[in-house]
Amino acid sequence: MPRLLVATRNAHKTAEIAAMLAGVFEVVDLHDFPDAPEVEETGSTFAENAALKSAAISHFTGGWALADDSGLEVDALGGEPGVRSARFAGEAASDADNNQLLFARLAELPAAPRTARTARTARFRCALALSQQGHLVATFDGAVEGRVIESLRGPGGFGYDPLFIPDGYDTTFGELPAATKNSISHRSRALAKFRAWLDTHPLPLPAS
Ligand code: IMP
Repeated sequence: MPRLLVATRNAHKTAEIAAMLAGVFEVVDLHDFPDAPEVEETGSTFAENAALKSAAISHFTGGWALADDSGLEVDALGGEPGVRSARFAGEAASDADNNQLLFARLAELPAAPRTARTARTARFRCALALSQQGHLVATFDGAVEGRVIESLRGPGGFGYDPLFIPDGYDTTFGELPAATKNSISHRSRALAKFRAWLDTHPLPLPAS
């Protein structure tokens, strides 16, 4: 099976992408490239940051790389944490730190918007960028609409999953089975576009 490098050190992202590309690619990540550079996410959009990461890593390996840049936009917070989702509470922030800060920021809002269901609307966004030898080849995006709740629910997933309920559900991404999250998530929607694109752009990747 052709081997595809995903330019991430986030094992949760890799696991989700590998599950969704099962049978199409053998997915590897930067754990197989310990000397790969840390890429600074200086872009102002998910697509810009995904492009920066895929270009830098594909330049480093001399091959192909797919990068994922993603995050949560909360309407009551003007779209924050957005592109800063991973480092919302600081450069070395854990998921728990980021979730705590999100709750604290929501608690600072005036009472009416805080309790109104509409004020808690949010979405996860994902941008995927595919590059070869340092050159951006294509980008794909996906989003899932939903709302954020006031306490963490569910042991599954990662990041903001335990506080996000997708539209049409009563349970958080942290409570839903991984396969259900993977059938509706921002990441799966971007990957569906990537897979459709592959039908007309087969990648000359090495087999493992
Ligand atoms: P990135 O590595 O700069 O793309 O940052 C991604 C961050 O966005 C993660 O660390 C999470 O905080 C958040 N995020 C992205 N996708 C998801 C998801 O599927 N579930 C929960 N949090 C996510």
